[in-house]
Amino acid sequence: MVKETDFEYIEAPLPDLGENEFLIRNLYFAFEPAMRGWLNDVKSYVPPVQLGEVMRASAVGQVVESNNADFQPGEFVSGMFGWQEYAINNGQPGVMGRIAKVPDGVPPYLVLSALGGTGLTAYFGLLDIGKPKAGDVVVVSGAAGATGSVAGQIARIKGAAKVVGIAGGPEKCAWLTSELGFDAAIDYKSEDVQARLAQECPSGIDIFFDNVGGDILDAALLNMAMNGRIVLCGGISSYNEEELPPGPKNYMQLVIRRCTMQGFILIDYFDQAAEASKMLAGWIASGELKHGEDIQEGIENTPKTFLRLFEGKNTGKQLLKISEPPLI
Ligand code: NAP
Repeated sequence: MVKETDFEYIEAPLPDLGENEFLIRNLYFAFEPAMRGWLNDVKSYVPPVQLGEVMRASAVGQVVESNNADFQPGEFVSGMFGWQEYAINNGQPGVMGRIAKVPDGVPPYLVLSALGGTGLTAYFGLLDIGKPKAGDVVVVSGAAGATGSVAGQIARIKGAAKVVGIAGGPEKCAWLTSELGFDAAIDYKSEDVQARLAQECPSGIDIFFDNVGGDILDAALLNMAMNGRIVLCGGISSYNEEELPPGPKNYMQLVIRRCTMQGFILIDYFDQAAEASKMLAGWIASGELKHGEDIQEGIENTPKTFLRLFEGKNTGKQLLKISEPPLI
């Protein structure tokens, strides 16, 4: 398990801005389980964060000083600004995409939540990999988290016959059914997931959107419908394991029930992000898509807030407020 003491606070004077550079004061940090993977010194879809580097993280901030005609002081921007109060950028794409401007009238934190990478992950995972059809039975694990909560609601918007969420604890389950319109919720910490899935989905699961992996994936595999689709979004149950657990023991169900199981990474969809963001914004404006954020405060609480993801303390998107807008 990653620990608070794995991180160090360092104060340093702000360097002068170079050509085309601009200074961003961070307002909110966003936390994603994938950040745990970026700390492992292994080959992945992005290079690992090196010892002594600023921790890579997405954030939203306000431009406070600029030598770049495209980014003016006062504008709100989001990008991989890292765990720091101020970031310097030149507007060029980095390892994880380019800087985006926060649209007028949108609360800045929302571009880190349902209107940003989180919403887009749910959108492309469910629609492009899950390929939902009206009448499908859809099950989402990690359902009360940032991505899962949006994925389940998009399934409902797209005409799913039933949407079932799997989450840890009665409060999270109640949030799914009473606030977000899930038809049922399974508390994996106190219930037999496999038995409850069989009960809730007697004709089988058409789409399983998986954020968790491990035993929950195995329970879903035993309950898939013919030609079902498993969307591998993540596998948080093993992110802190030093030794990886054995693979899903029920994988032969893919053969028996002619299912597919496919992974995806959001960065491959950046060229389609503008269109998807428009859809998400429309659903949010119409009230069809609700978003939840867990907002902690204070940069001194950064590592502690990161740990909340692995302790299951967040409901909705985990954010940390660093300072107040508007600043200038
Ligand atoms: P999140 O779901 O908001 O937060 C993590 C949640 O995971 C926790 O609240 C906790 O909820 C659950 N959890 C933590 N440890 C667990 C364990 N050992 N077993 C089961 N559940 C556990 O985080 P998120 O940002 O939306 O990410 C969700 C998943 O999507 C992650 O696997 C992430 O890596 C993946 N993801 C993938 C992409 C992509 O491009 N493929 C992009 C973004 C995120 P409970 O209380 O319910 O346990």
